[in-house]
Amino acid sequence: MNHTMAVKLLGVRGTLPVHGPEFALFGGGTSSVLVRAGGATIVLDAGTGLSSRAWNAFYPEKACSLLITHAHVDHLMGFPVFSPLFDPACACDVYLRTREGHTAREQIEALMAPPLWPIRTATLGDHVRFHDVPKTFSVGAVRVDTLESRHPGGSTLYKLSLDGVSLVYATDYEPESYAPADFCAFAAGCSLLLLDAQYTPEEYARTRGFGHSTIPRSAAIARSCGAQRTIFIHHDPSRTDPQLLALEEAVRREDPRISFGRAGEEVTL
Ligand SMILES: [Zn+2]
Ligand SMILES: [Zn+2]
Repeated sequence: MNHTMAVKLLGVRGTLPVHGPEFALFGGGTSSVLVRAGGATIVLDAGTGLSSRAWNAFYPEKACSLLITHAHVDHLMGFPVFSPLFDPACACDVYLRTREGHTAREQIEALMAPPLWPIRTATLGDHVRFHDVPKTFSVGAVRVDTLESRHPGGSTLYKLSLDGVSLVYATDYEPESYAPADFCAFAAGCSLLLLDAQYTPEEYARTRGFGHSTIPRSAAIARSCGAQRTIFIHHDPSRTDPQLLALEEAVRREDPRISFGRAGEEVTL
């Protein structure tokens, strides 16, 4: 069977990279997802999951597009070491929404410049192009739709569509209800929903306003929008493998179409 979209989770940890045997199953690298569809190579977010090792399995590429949700460091820390940036043979298009008057390049330059990093974006070749994020655009044959997230400082939710198959990448999203109308319309019937579910309801009592969802809230939203399959991402950095497995088992008893993302997991749509 000819699949339309190949999705690989490179990093599913939220907020802060973690390491150690208690995180080995779900992984400790922060947000990054690799998508190959219609001849295009798309990377969603450039957290520490975007390590050279994860990427090199697919390299070399002639072109790739990085669709970044927002410039919080857990979504950007893999960017300065992303090898295609230093390969003039690979055209790199970097999308990050202009926020508070700061362009994509300026937001990345806040991290990728001395004293935080020795190499500036200005030293990258012409093959690296920075873009604002239009409401709708395309990467090769893939249509990209966007929705603004509820998150401190803002964040962009992405939907990739090709040949009747669609992937919604919704991390760093604090929904205002169990069935937010704008989001449910955006993600309606999608083939795969990658959805922030960082907190338990108990944790949410003290993390309200941090810009993330809860497990029961995200489970309700997955059902409300009719996602065919849902994978929870942006796992809290304190959450160990046994804890994630227990939470996943409880969710799956209610809805077997939901699972918790593991780094390295591949899904074909
Ligand atoms: Zn984050
Ligand atoms: Zn964030």
